[in-house]
Amino acid sequence: MADEASSTHSGVQSTPFVRRIPCKRCLNHYAQYPTKNEEANGAQLVACCEDSSASDECTRCKHGNKPCEKIDKAFIAVAKKLHEHAQAGYTDKFKKYQLAGRKALFKMQNRSRARNRRTKKDKIAIKEHAREARALTDLKIRLDMANSLSVIANAASILAYNKWHTVATYDREVADNYQGVLDDEADEIEYAESDSDEETEEQA
Ligand SMILES: [Zn+2]
Ligand SMILES: [Zn+2]
Repeated sequence: MADEASSTHSGVQSTPFVRRIPCKRCLNHYAQYPTKNEEANGAQLVACCEDSSASDECTRCKHGNKPCEKIDKAFIAVAKKLHEHAQAGYTDKFKKYQLAGRKALFKMQNRSRARNRRTKKDKIAIKEHAREARALTDLKIRLDMANSLSVIANAASILAYNKWHTVATYDREVADNYQGVLDDEADEIEYAESDSDEETEEQA
């Protein structure tokens, strides 16, 4: 890790060095300095420094275990001024830029709040869209099911019709056969009757 840092920044080995642009937390430190605590402790201004590890965080954020955030482009110039003067200490020139630094921080906070609001709105819109998509899928499934059911019902009615048709044909055959039997019987009866007629005729 140390090797990597020293190779990237030759001449700086295991020694913290001042960043070109301070981070948001360090800008806040510059703008608010000295806070009541810092005044009570007699704490000095501390510049935003790269730490000796390959970490992207500055020493302040790393030690505080807090995210090291970049400054919005629009406020880099103000931040750099404070940063430069901070390295000379709590001077009048430094004090002159503190108000601008506080204003920059205030504006950045408002911007990030607006961004969060937009993100929230987007998230709601995405959720709404997902819900609509789910409802549509649900509807499609129901329609598919309804279609399938109607196909099945149709098939069932065709099957029933065919069955009836088959049964009807079968019945007709039976009926025809039965009619044939009846006809034969009728013929036989007629024949017998005619026989008896003949007999009576003969007898007469
Ligand atoms: Zn910093
Ligand atoms: Zn930082």
